Amino acid sequence: MTERTFSIIKPDATRRNLTGKINAVIEEAGLRIVAQRRVKLTDAQAKKFYEVHAERPFYGELVEQMTAEPVVVQVLEGDNAVLKYREVMGATNPDNADEGTIRKLFALSIGENSVHGSDSLENAGIEIAQFFKDEEIVG
Ligand code: ADP
Ligand code: MG
Repeated sequence: MTERTFSIIKPDATRRNLTGKINAVIEEAGLRIVAQRRVKLTDAQAKKFYEVHAERPFYGELVEQMTAEPVVVQVLEGDNAVLKYREVMGATNPDNADEGTIRKLFALSIGENSVHGSDSLENAGIEIAQFFKDEEIVG
């Protein structure tokens, strides 16, 4: 089934000029980038986006990292895009990520792990709506 998922290229990656290299991995995996914008997240945006992790010890550090420098927000489209992108990203901790995944290739640490991807179709819809209007997504 064709799905859409939400992706963020995080500040650790934009800082190192890796947007193109990460997009190449995404496209080579058969996912299409159907919307994309570079933006500097506000504190409020980052806090809201990661609200589910508010009680976790790393929440403050996570919000700080996500707002430190620009990110690239994206909508990816393809067959089983949600699960497919989770596979392309690799495990949260790059030490556990499979060879060839974005996090194995580029992540610096479990916190600075280069990309975000939605964890369910339902959350993908919610996350996409936080950053894109329907008419900004061109499949
Ligand atoms: P994922 O991004 O793989 O879905 P989570 O949703 O569990 O992972 O966590 C969200 C983000 O919070 C991670 O991508 C990472 O940047 C950060 N994070 C998760 N666990 C830790 C941790 N133990 N220490 C520091 N940062 C973490
Ligand atoms: Mg997650």
